[in-house]
Amino acid sequence: MKIARTIAELRAQPRDGSVGLVPTMGAFHEGHLALFRAAREENDVVIASLFVNPAQFGEDEDLTAYPRDEKHDAALADAAGIDILFAPSAEELYPPGFQTWVELEELGRMLEGEFRPGHFRGVATICLKLFNIVRPDRAYFGQKDAQQAAIVRRMVRDLDHEVEVRVVPTVRDPDGLALSSRNAYLSAEERERALALPRALATKDPQAARARLNDLDVDYVEVADFEPRVLAAAVRVGKTRLIDNVVLDKESV
Ligand code: AMP
Repeated sequence: MKIARTIAELRAQPRDGSVGLVPTMGAFHEGHLALFRAAREENDVVIASLFVNPAQFGEDEDLTAYPRDEKHDAALADAAGIDILFAPSAEELYPPGFQTWVELEELGRMLEGEFRPGHFRGVATICLKLFNIVRPDRAYFGQKDAQQAAIVRRMVRDLDHEVEVRVVPTVRDPDGLALSSRNAYLSAEERERALALPRALATKDPQAARARLNDLDVDYVEVADFEPRVLAAAVRVGKTRLIDNVVLDKESV
């Protein structure tokens, strides 16, 4: 596996056939590996990006604390058959004078967007930049971040990009908790309390879900009209903010 740190280095890599891109912020777990597998199955060349995107973190969020272990991630990506790991610096992607942003007027301000102002501006901008840098045929996202997937799909449609957006079902621990890099912040006691989130969503009913989340600090529990429609929620367990969702329209993923 080649590690590319600059845009020029990435673009200089040989690429024969179809290209799949998996954008990530690292701290790989089985959720990321499911995306890698899907990309590996469907493309000749698979590129994963590893970039903790400062632009999608709010001022009081966990940018500096976000788990980083590039060596470990590189070993996992290599074992998963990734051909190129694109791991640029923040200066490479946001050089001095950077001032062009992608903003989704409605989708970017609801649900997560309401509680994390500017978050989806950062997400949409980095995804478009990665699409322009890598020029993939397909890009892979997790259903775990349902609104992010909806944002990327909408942006690709609105800005006439040619990339095909693929969404992979949420990977969960056996107890139901959706895998997330942020789960590493949870103490054993908090992790136990966090199980209320998947259990509440499993009701697939907003009212029943709200009742089951009574003991947690809830940001929202809402039905969101994405494709597919989901029941989505965000809760805080101690200092950790967790999001999750269940698909409503078809068999649960
Ligand atoms: P992150 O590194 O957290 O930005 O996630 C990178 C990609 O992995 C995003 O498209 C996420 O939606 C996806 N992802 C994260 N957790 C999971 C999970 N438990 N199941 C499926 N995909 C996931």
